[in-house]
Amino acid sequence: MYVNGDYLPEDRATVSVFDRGFLFADAVYEVTSVLDGRLLDFAGHAARLERSLNELGMPMPMDRDALLDVHRRLVDENGIDEGLVYLQVTRGAADRDFAYPDADTPQTVVLFTQAKPGLADNPKAREGIAVVTIPDQRWGRRDIKTVQLLYPSMGKMAAKAEGADDAWMVEDGAVTEGTSNNAYIVRGDTIITRQLGHKILHGITRKAVLRLAREAQMKVEERAFTVDEARGADEAFVTSASSFVMPVVRIDGQPIGDGRPGRVATRLREIYLDEARHTAI
Ligand code: PLP
Repeated sequence: MYVNGDYLPEDRATVSVFDRGFLFADAVYEVTSVLDGRLLDFAGHAARLERSLNELGMPMPMDRDALLDVHRRLVDENGIDEGLVYLQVTRGAADRDFAYPDADTPQTVVLFTQAKPGLADNPKAREGIAVVTIPDQRWGRRDIKTVQLLYPSMGKMAAKAEGADDAWMVEDGAVTEGTSNNAYIVRGDTIITRQLGHKILHGITRKAVLRLAREAQMKVEERAFTVDEARGADEAFVTSASSFVMPVVRIDGQPIGDGRPGRVATRLREIYLDEARHTAI
């Protein structure tokens, strides 16, 4: 693991109990996928990290090249062929106080890898996943990738309790996103997904998938959609760095379309993975 400039075995990697990431969730994170031992869309994740930090008044702890070196070294030293690199940057350790500490307080920077064999050839992608709907009770700046993940964790548990895989969050009658992914429906030949703004995370995978869809002459509408619209859709899917494009086949126990992974989601997954492998660094 990487902790504040050092490469350490897991059992020696520690941070202070006064760390603001621990006490206030005053921290942002990124998760970058690894396929064939190479990083997918590193530039996109680095750019979003910088934006999240900037929104919270924190600087980048190192430049992008140095960050890339840390990612690569961890992938190499841990022998990761398929998996994830997790990165977290906090405002650092300081006496417990709601007000931020002095700007010269050193940030805490932690990175580690997770091996995930079968990340690309995931059997779930052939079956599709089931989602339940829950109210979106998160804070109003979901575009900042903070580590405030308790509500999404509760959502995953609510899904599990109903025998489903994930939860779609709903606000003012419209789906915002999944607990850890962006949500889409397909009606006819049109892909519909929530527009960007403060209400959803600006997914790195979302950006790539919408570009690829448009390049493949598919129609894309970036707008809010209701749960009813999702129930009546021809197909549905989610995207994230760790699931790529994942078909959704049930919503609140009801099948979507014919209850099988749809043609659009299946094709987008193929196109996405193909490009991702070819552009990984
Ligand atoms: N939305 C939320 C709430 C997420 O937590 C994530 C990923 O963690 C995403 C969307 C998908 O973003 P990305 O494609 O960058 O992984």
